[in-house]
Amino acid sequence: MGKLQKQICQFVLAHFERNYGKELGEAWVTVREVLTSSQYWQYAVLLNRFSSQSELEKDLLLKGYRRLFEHKLSSLKCYISDAAGRFPNQRHKFGKLKDYYLLNAASLLPVLALDAKDGDYILDLCAAPGGKSIAVLQCAYPGQLYCNEQDRVRSRWLQQTLESFIPDHLMNSVTTLELDGRQFGQLRPGMFDKVLVDAPCSNDRSWLFNSNIQQATLRISQRSELPSLQIQLLRSAIETLRPGGSLVYSTCTLSGAENDNVVARILDCCGNVQAEDLSNLAAAVSQDFTLAAGIQHGLLVLPDKGKAWGPMYVAKLKKI
Ligand code: SAM
Repeated sequence: MGKLQKQICQFVLAHFERNYGKELGEAWVTVREVLTSSQYWQYAVLLNRFSSQSELEKDLLLKGYRRLFEHKLSSLKCYISDAAGRFPNQRHKFGKLKDYYLLNAASLLPVLALDAKDGDYILDLCAAPGGKSIAVLQCAYPGQLYCNEQDRVRSRWLQQTLESFIPDHLMNSVTTLELDGRQFGQLRPGMFDKVLVDAPCSNDRSWLFNSNIQQATLRISQRSELPSLQIQLLRSAIETLRPGGSLVYSTCTLSGAENDNVVARILDCCGNVQAEDLSNLAAAVSQDFTLAAGIQHGLLVLPDKGKAWGPMYVAKLKKI
């Protein structure tokens, strides 16, 4: 990393310690070590298929990167290095699309689970800053991609991301909206083949490094309200799906209350959805990602040494 180690928020760490120590047992010891020490952190490089790639690929190989998911899952071109560290950020150059997007490789799992196909009508319900929307467009040419983000400032960030990665002629099939995702279902019922709900959640990584103790305290005190918001977003997503369509629910927290419990409650209360099996996806990624045991309705990626990806929870539901 070469930069100053960011300060851990001890209040948040103590809270996680109590929760995740219980939920994850022994596994929490390694997860905590990886989350709290930047020496372990890794960044993946997602190539932009709308920009030239050959020089960049040569450079990545020279620097010891290798292709992730090669031939197994999709046309996504993502490179990772087994060593910690970060490929340089790319500055925006006017009139030129960006060549790559830096991300946590586990962020691609919800996109792989979504399995976008050419012509699909797709909704990214909570889309800013846009990493997963960009990844969806690397996999397929959707009939329409709706990217929704409620927060105005973040929505502008989303728009910028899309414009930096997607050529103008494709932007015709991309619509950005600033709606409360909870209302989307009523506004566009039965419209979409696929919906991604990458929900607002306890973002474990960023919360741990919050230097504002007041904000950290507020977040922890309001944490128990998140499952209700996540359930409302999921109910809205189900409404906006056509029968036979599917949705992917993802979070970047380890919290069972925001992951499996949310999905269990949706399965209990919505008779028109069933859980989809993700074991093929799990098998295809198990070499590069550490998956938690005992997850009932989805997959949970645990940050590990040399595989510092996650936390990321992914579940898939089909509308009957
Ligand atoms: N999918 C994004 C990506 O890959 O770059 C990350 C999404 S982030 C985990 C969740 C987003 O949901 C935040 O940008 C947040 O502002 C937004 N959000 C929160 N409440 C929302 C709501 N009621 N409706 C729509 N978006 C909401």
